[in-house]
Amino acid sequence: MSEPRTTRCLIVGAGPAGYSAAIYAARALLNPVMIAGIQPGGQLTITTDVENYPGFAEVIQGPWLMDQMKAQAEHVGTEIISDVVVEADLSKRPFRLVCDSGQVWIAETVIIATGAQAKWLGLESEQQFRGFGVSACATCDGFFYRNKQVVVVGGGNTAVEEALFLTNFASKVTVVHRRDEFRAERILQERLNANPKIEVIWNHAIDKVMGDTDPLGVTGVRLKDVQSGATRDLACDGVFIAIGHAPASEVFKGQIEADASGYLKVKPGTASTAIEGVYAAGDVTDDVYRQAVTAAGMGCMAALEAVRFLAEKDHEAAHHPISHHEAEKIGAW
Ligand code: NAP
Repeated sequence: MSEPRTTRCLIVGAGPAGYSAAIYAARALLNPVMIAGIQPGGQLTITTDVENYPGFAEVIQGPWLMDQMKAQAEHVGTEIISDVVVEADLSKRPFRLVCDSGQVWIAETVIIATGAQAKWLGLESEQQFRGFGVSACATCDGFFYRNKQVVVVGGGNTAVEEALFLTNFASKVTVVHRRDEFRAERILQERLNANPKIEVIWNHAIDKVMGDTDPLGVTGVRLKDVQSGATRDLACDGVFIAIGHAPASEVFKGQIEADASGYLKVKPGTASTAIEGVYAAGDVTDDVYRQAVTAAGMGCMAALEAVRFLAEKDHEAAHHPISHHEAEKIGAW
């Protein structure tokens, strides 16, 4: 196994928050290291058109935007490592993180920008057909539903965008929503209403995903009226679950305070967690705005706070130098 490596600033996660933190930390000469995680580029790599990231008059593509951020982060001096943090000890500084490869990182500051992942309904039948007709990513899987019928579950921006995107392939898209109104932005709702391929079934939930086992594949869904409890079956070839996201904070559980859904808590108006030197930015801490541009802003805040923190520590060390023996005792170097 390789020797532990040290860094002044370890950034965990490679979405807009992580890349922005990296750009600011690198330009402050911290030589940051980024552990890119399972899905480098984050959720924007599985979206298509991005129309609301400032600075681009033309519609841009999510994966392209993330490639640009990555290139910029590397250009200014970030070391990007393809690995996944599987263990973290934030109980004392310097912090110790272990990656899937076995590599141990000793970090003076840690910026957590691990983002969020799609949520599932939690039905047994949903898990049975996951990857075989049940998906949480229209951009990834829409292509397989050319001239087929699909169901989209949810009523937020993601559900409406996925439904619109799926009309490029499917012959019919049925959106099933548990209430009688969407929470998606008006402009998206208008596009959905104007699309003849889309039908909406209000006040219904998915009771069960139905299908064949040999070969494994979806043939329909059992819908349940949330008011009367009545059920009925709807034939379809695919089901797209688009009911929001959950933060990827599992590896830090119990160490950093989180809310009931797992979103990491930061001090209001900052990116600082309760642990000095540990910051959280983007969707892992934000269940309100959840935008690429807000995540990027929080990444910038986290890096600036880390820079300030390290400068203070450097200043203290310069004015109150400690002996080598003392340094070893407190785990500093
Ligand atoms: P969301 O806004 O939280 O919406 C989730 C939807 O799923 C809601 O309609 C919710 O119903 C429904 N839902 C949740 N749990 C459910 C369950 N167990 N069974 C059935 N339905 C369930 O999530 P999102 O659409 O993924 O959006 C997340 C954030 O990203 C938002 O801030 C959104 O604005 C942003 N976003 C922006 C864009 C864009 O700007 N182009 C695109 C995508 C996402 P209720 O309405 O009844 O709660």
